[in-house]
Amino acid sequence: MSDLGERTAVPPQGKGCVGFIGLGTMGREMAANLLKAGYRVQAFDVIPAALDTAVAAGGVAATSPANAAEGADIAVLMLPDTPQVEEVIYGENGLLVAPPAGRLIVDMSTISPVATRRIHADLAEAGVAFIDAPVSGGSIGAKNATLSIMAGGEASAFARAAPVLRAMGTTISLVGAAGAGQTVKLCNQLVCGINIQAICEALALARASGVDLAQLRSVLLGGSANSWMIENLGAAMIAGDDSAGFRIDLMLKDLRLAHDHAQALSVPLPATALVTSQYVDARVHGEGHCGNQALFRVYDRMTNQLRDDGGARR
Ligand code: NAD
Repeated sequence: MSDLGERTAVPPQGKGCVGFIGLGTMGREMAANLLKAGYRVQAFDVIPAALDTAVAAGGVAATSPANAAEGADIAVLMLPDTPQVEEVIYGENGLLVAPPAGRLIVDMSTISPVATRRIHADLAEAGVAFIDAPVSGGSIGAKNATLSIMAGGEASAFARAAPVLRAMGTTISLVGAAGAGQTVKLCNQLVCGINIQAICEALALARASGVDLAQLRSVLLGGSANSWMIENLGAAMIAGDDSAGFRIDLMLKDLRLAHDHAQALSVPLPATALVTSQYVDARVHGEGHCGNQALFRVYDRMTNQLRDDGGARR
């Protein structure tokens, strides 16, 4: 594993050109950080409003993935799932036929490790380098350029992508060959999902016992149960704030990818299976668009803590 270490201080202007594809919750913040770091950003998204946000931040609107990559040193993808990445690579006006001038593509979305290896091989055949570089740190990390970035691929391509990655994250690691970044990301998601479930259970038990939830949280934060999830999602659960950051639907996608990968390798994931069914419960109750903290709604239902209007009793 090779680490690039801490991000450098304010970089000079005019660093180069990045084609950025996918400007949602994460991508718009990451593209904004590239602009702040002095890169020209050629942005593309299928949703016009997402593109408008990128242009308002200083980016140039592109009309297709190929147009975003035109003359760029590197193309960065931040898309929901495997089919969207495949569309941007293999589709009409995709990057396989019209790669960036620098012949380097970095996929920062969370997608299938198996599909990633296939894309890597197809692009290599066309003389284009491909790095999978999914991220952890949420929309807060994307905004503050403090993402943890786990990359898979050739060291030479990783080294070329490094300055661009440093503008978006602080912990940047090459963890192995093509697809290894995605595998590490799925491992990260298991830990996050099971941790979120554990926090829900602790809050449900404390609430039923009449313990003050804010006090519980601050005690857990000070001891060995401390986690990023308690710090960030614990506060939102207690406040009843379900607004999205990382959506329930996206976590379900990651849990599915983890199950598929684990099954192919005959690795049982019993705790992941249990938390997945809780996430499915949230989705069937219409909470797929909510942030992951809305998993606590499942515990509201299980402990009969819903008000007549469907909201949680706090
Ligand atoms: P999002 O749905 O908010 O954004 C994705 C963007 O991609 C949308 O604007 C959408 O219009 C665009 N898009 C979809 N198909 C497209 C296509 N064919 N061409 C161009 N644009 C297209 O998702 P997000 O929350 O930004 O997450 C992006 C990726 O990062 C996902 O794989 C997610 O799992 C991962 N991730 C998200 C978070 C988080 O906290 N939100 C954290 C870590 C990793």
